Amino acid sequence: MINEFFQKTKLNYKRFRLRLFLRWLSKYVTIVDVVPANSTIAVVAVEDFDPKSNEVWHSLQNHSYARDVYCDECSRQTVMSNGMYKKFTHQGRIQKVICSKCLFNLLKQKTSKSLRAD
Ligand SMILES: [Zn+2]
Repeated sequence: MINEFFQKTKLNYKRFRLRLFLRWLSKYVTIVDVVPANSTIAVVAVEDFDPKSNEVWHSLQNHSYARDVYCDECSRQTVMSNGMYKKFTHQGRIQKVICSKCLFNLLKQKTSKSLRAD
């Protein structure tokens, strides 16, 4: 029955998976509207970006593209949404940027550290 539900539209399934991912991510990362100067922005590395993911967003603000923004850890080119890129450049690019690959490694390290501490 759940499969039938998702087979109605591919879009719903994509959105569902995205919501699940964001919920999981919000355990580690705070999703905010205003970006404080001392914060780190988590973005997708260009290699991990599928332009088709723009289909899940109705608002153009949420559409993402490869930008002239580079990860502060590994210098990979990254992807930002229109809305985020506007805020980031408007604030003078003062926030730290971390790409999806570095974030994944960082979370892996943190998770294994906290497991060892327990
Ligand atoms: Zn990186």
